[in-house]
Amino acid sequence: MSDFTTVRYTVDGPVAWIEMNRPEKRNAQSVPMTYELNEAFDLAARDRDVAVVVLAGAGPHFSAGHDITDPDRYAEPDHCVGTWAGWDAGGAEGRLAREHEIYFDMCRRWRDFAKPTIAAVQGKCIGGGLMLAWVCDLIVAAEDAQFLDPVVNFGIGGVEWLAHPWELGPRKAKELLMTAESWSAQEAASLGMVNHVVPRDELRDFTQRLAEKIASKPRLAVKLVKEAINATLDAQGQTSAMQTAFALHQLAHAHNVIQFGEPLDPSGIPAAVRPKTTKKED
Ligand code: ZN
Repeated sequence: MSDFTTVRYTVDGPVAWIEMNRPEKRNAQSVPMTYELNEAFDLAARDRDVAVVVLAGAGPHFSAGHDITDPDRYAEPDHCVGTWAGWDAGGAEGRLAREHEIYFDMCRRWRDFAKPTIAAVQGKCIGGGLMLAWVCDLIVAAEDAQFLDPVVNFGIGGVEWLAHPWELGPRKAKELLMTAESWSAQEAASLGMVNHVVPRDELRDFTQRLAEKIASKPRLAVKLVKEAINATLDAQGQTSAMQTAFALHQLAHAHNVIQFGEPLDPSGIPAAVRPKTTKKED
C-alpha cells in the first residue's frame, strides 16, 4: 500500500492503522519516521473510506521517544510541513527551527487532524512517545503500559510538547516531571489520561472495535465534536501555554550548550547528565 520504511500503514474496514515499525529501536522517533508518520496521516486524511485513525507501535513497546542516536537528526528534508527551515544555522537558531518543525508544528498538525484518532499504547511510552500518544483524541492502554518523561534529568523542564498539565492535572504533572518517575496504565486511567486499560493481547481488537463504533456515527458530527473540544482547550489557553513551554524548552537547550559547551552533540543532552547507554530495557 505504501513504500514506508519506518511506518506500517494498513486499512481495516473504516479504520486506518498507522504503526510505528522500528521495534528493534523501541520505535524511537527518527526524523525519517516523523515525516513518514505525517505522510501516513495525510494518506488517511485523503482516503474517503477511512473514518478513524489508530496510531500504534509494533513490538513490545509503543515508543522510546525521540531517536537521539539518529545520524539524520540534523538533516533537513526537502519538504518541511512548516516554514521553520535552516536547521543547520548556528547558535540556538538551528535547533529552534528543527524542533519547531519536527516536534511542535508536527504535533500541532496531528492534534488538529480532521478525523478522530486513537492511540493504542503498550509497554514503554517515554518522552517523545508521550507526545505521539497525547496528540490523539483517545488513548487505549495495555495493562503493561508505562509512561515517563525523564528529561528533567537532562536539564530540561519537559518534552517539547508540554501537554502534561492538561493530560495529568497540574499537581501530578509537576510531581511526575520534577521526580522523573514513571506512571502505570492504571494511574493514567485514574488521572483521566487514558480512556481504557485492557489486557495486552486484547489491545488491537479492543481498539479496532472502539474505532469502528466511532466510525459508525455521522462523520461530520464526530469531526465537529473534535473541533469543539479542541477549541475549548484553546480557549482555556492550551496553545499559548504550550508555546511558552516550548520557548522555555529551547532556553534549557541553549543553557546546556552555554554551560557545558556541547553545541554539536546530537542528543542535545550534556555529557554530564547524559545516560551512559541508550539501550532501553525490554
Ligand atoms: Zn528539545
